[in-house]
Amino acid sequence: MTHHTPLFRFDNSYARDLDGFYVPWEGDKVPEPRIVLLNAGLAHDLGLDPDALDTDEGAAIFSGAKAPEGANTLAQAYAGHQFGGFSPQLGDGRAILLGEIIGPDGQRRDIHLKGSGRTPFSRGGDGKAVLAPVLREFLIGEAMHALHIPTTRALAATTTGEMIHREGPKPGAVLARVAASHLRVGTFQFFAARGEHARVRQLADYAIARHDPSLADAPDKYLAFLNAVIRRQATLLAKWMHVGFVHGVMNTDNTTISGETIDYGPCAFIDAYDPKAVFSSIDRQGRYAYGNQPVIAQWNLARLAETLIPHLHEDQDEAIRIATEAVQGFTALYMADWVAGMRPKLGLNTAEDSDTDLANGFYAAMEGQGVDHTQAFRALTLATEGNNAPLRDLFDDPSALDAWLPAWQDRLARDPAQNRAAAMNAVNPVYIPRNHLVESALQAAERDGDMTEITTLLEVLRDPFTARDGLEDYAQPAPDGFGPYTTFCGT
Ligand code: AMP
Ligand code: MG
Repeated sequence: MTHHTPLFRFDNSYARDLDGFYVPWEGDKVPEPRIVLLNAGLAHDLGLDPDALDTDEGAAIFSGAKAPEGANTLAQAYAGHQFGGFSPQLGDGRAILLGEIIGPDGQRRDIHLKGSGRTPFSRGGDGKAVLAPVLREFLIGEAMHALHIPTTRALAATTTGEMIHREGPKPGAVLARVAASHLRVGTFQFFAARGEHARVRQLADYAIARHDPSLADAPDKYLAFLNAVIRRQATLLAKWMHVGFVHGVMNTDNTTISGETIDYGPCAFIDAYDPKAVFSSIDRQGRYAYGNQPVIAQWNLARLAETLIPHLHEDQDEAIRIATEAVQGFTALYMADWVAGMRPKLGLNTAEDSDTDLANGFYAAMEGQGVDHTQAFRALTLATEGNNAPLRDLFDDPSALDAWLPAWQDRLARDPAQNRAAAMNAVNPVYIPRNHLVESALQAAERDGDMTEITTLLEVLRDPFTARDGLEDYAQPAPDGFGPYTTFCGT
């Protein structure tokens, strides 16, 4: 008998510790699994062998057709508020958890498949995913990671050989996703909504062990846990805002306990700065508009806090007071992270209280001016070197900058200038996933099976802060002819 090493060394704590929070389930058999993108760098970081994964066996596993050795495949139960309305039972309707691995860094991570077929949570859906949205999630996740934003990441994109009916037939695909965990606010809501508070406590204990082990013996550990989640979400939201990321579907089932960005559906990056920017075709009210995101995150955290009320204090009124105070604390945490991240974007090494107004002043100047958000911050670097023209040229009416520029220059004069340009360029990206380039790459892949555009785009986005000769087009907003950008949930 030949000796072989399993592709993954699983240790499945969710299956082991959370009986009742899932249904054991397997992926569908598929006709012709083929890996179209493998994340060799991520595989390597996780202590996996990319060459062993990029095989027929790897393709069978990543398509969901074959459970890998040591897996304990299951569909997770969760509930969630979608666009403000509560659904008591969502769950993995087209996804399964294969299991967890522990990386060379000691971190436990989920290996999860999206698009692997129907489950008991599918309701009306077909349980499938199609290629373009799978590649979009792959691409945007890698871009976010390179921008130093906490995120789930794709390990592989695999076509299945099936055609899936959406608006016409589309190539079927499965995304293999790596996440710190798939615990969501909605996971807590699932049993809280059923009044099963012991279950919620069990879940909180599991989440604490997994994400906040230092709190396991804290005196008010459920409050400390709530505060830790609020802290991580505040940090995450500030980072989204700094780069102009619009998630598009910030439902509570898409809000993680880990603080990672999850579920890249109708997401997009803004070109022109606009707090009202909405891309998702179904977000007609602008609930999840760019500028609304911090408030929505806080609303989602309030939903988490509600699930924990029975565990915060024996007196319910006191528990509600404690929960409310914690959720209100989001605002200050978010604002502190936001301004702390804005300072280096504006070229500041030191902190003054007025920096919040200064940063808001820059955004106020940009509003309604059609200013490309990403280019504006790179142009600020040139302005610190005495060249204001590239910044002014971004504005429809450059006089909108007349009040702000001198205030900023006064502030810079009170700040030590060493390494300023380099420090700014290390936090203000040149390259973000431009919507027109993403669309073009996804279409080429879906229509012609041509992966060259997406491969090149991935390479560009994996090093977003270094301007490179020949990549000028990747730093430009969509041409006028591209029109308003709309993303669809037709995933
Ligand atoms: P998402 O928009 O991907 O966050 O999904 C929201 C909910 O809809 C989750 O419960 C998914 O499992 C479910 N869902 C989305 N697409 C499908 C599909 N094609 N088949 C079954 N369930 C789906
Ligand atoms: Mg989701």
